[in-house]
Amino acid sequence: MSLTNQPDPEARRRVVAQDLENVMHPIVQHRALETSQIVVTGGQGSTIVDADGSTYLDAMAGLWCVNIGYGRTELAEIAAEQMQQIAYYPHTAMNLPAARLGEQINTLMGGDYHTYFVNSGSEANEAGFKVARQYAKHEFPGQFRFKTIARHYAYHGTTLATLAAGGMGERKTKFEPYAGEFIHVPAPTCYRCPLGLESGKCGMACAKLIEATIQAEGPQTVAEIIVEPIMSAVGVAVPPDEYLPMVERICRKYDVLLHVDEVINGFGRTGKMFAHQHYGISPDIMAIAKGIVSAYLPIAATVVKNKVFESFLGEVAEARQVMQVNTYGGHPVSAAVAVRNIEIMLEEKLPERAATMGAYLMEGFKDRLFRHGITGDIRGKGLLIGIELVTDRESKVQLDGALVQGVVDFCKANGVIVGRSGGGTRHSNTIVLSPPLVITRTECDMLIEVLDKALEATVAKMNGAA
Ligand code: PMP
Repeated sequence: MSLTNQPDPEARRRVVAQDLENVMHPIVQHRALETSQIVVTGGQGSTIVDADGSTYLDAMAGLWCVNIGYGRTELAEIAAEQMQQIAYYPHTAMNLPAARLGEQINTLMGGDYHTYFVNSGSEANEAGFKVARQYAKHEFPGQFRFKTIARHYAYHGTTLATLAAGGMGERKTKFEPYAGEFIHVPAPTCYRCPLGLESGKCGMACAKLIEATIQAEGPQTVAEIIVEPIMSAVGVAVPPDEYLPMVERICRKYDVLLHVDEVINGFGRTGKMFAHQHYGISPDIMAIAKGIVSAYLPIAATVVKNKVFESFLGEVAEARQVMQVNTYGGHPVSAAVAVRNIEIMLEEKLPERAATMGAYLMEGFKDRLFRHGITGDIRGKGLLIGIELVTDRESKVQLDGALVQGVVDFCKANGVIVGRSGGGTRHSNTIVLSPPLVITRTECDMLIEVLDKALEATVAKMNGAA
């Protein structure tokens, strides 16, 4: 169904009944689905269409991923063409689209990297943990470097190891205990500094704690540090400019690999192709997914610096090669679509566009939303933005969860999909935004307008007027 197709309420009812009877959905409560579900049937640009004919401005780009926007039919043609040529063969061999995609990624990274293909962001991080451990086995034979330093409130995926690396209470506690090789340190969530320090006067204490943690654990036990450069799911935490360079210096000092999670941050989202490029750092391992193919098909990757890659070279009998295989890794159809997706991003200068539209949105939000006392903080980079809601700006007490959800619901009722930061953290009171990079100024204006109205309605509700 395209934007012009007719709504089909009867077909919609059938789908809802069929789904509720047979399907389990992630994160959302089944009961809630009975009343609040979207049955998505089409999309164009930044807009999605429900089977009932309603359209929504999708200010979340799906799950932070449809970077080039919906409805790019040329990608369907590329997928069909590739499927007719050769749909699949394992990536122990080679195929044209995956080779080209590897080359594109290496070029975007400045030419010193190799790429290992997987299917999701979780797998990309998981493979990253394993690469770091295997690298340590090769390079530090007398040591036992198996630990990953990670950060509180981080989100790195849904597998057991990526959950263990993560730090989102609600998401991880149901599956405890974990094996214990992930050591957590405070994150630069500066609006609510975990160390109680004042932003700009903290001497980067949280980065320094990483060094103290490595020393306490014993450097000979630490393989890597994982950081999402700009933390997304926690409510968009942009680190101070000095933070990541300091983390990198600590990594170099202790021969610890720097693993960046660019699953959301990557592919233009923050105004540069990769978010770490804002900070002049050079990761050893990088997980990418989502924007690599704008979610048109599943593909993701673990990108490793050549110094790491070279550690995996040797005679076959030495078993230095990557000791894992993903059946769908380097899938030719997904890779072909990803190649064209990246070309489109470059042709349409979408990272630059994200910087421009992000600045426009930011200005609009700051202009309009601070008039509501419940707007605590507005932060972000490019088209990755968080608006933290509080009972009042002075006390910074978090706005009640039901009221924050009310903002999300108000926006939806008014045709705009916005997100909410991850539950179970100290930051679940933040509205998060991650629209397609093709969002127009008119759509930005709509987003600002609807959020303004949503906050106004929330304040009125708090004052008992509604
Ligand atoms: N890392 C980050 C930063 C993410 O936000 C996500 C998913 N939102 C993942 C990893 C996991 O990606 P996937 O859902 O594709 O496994």
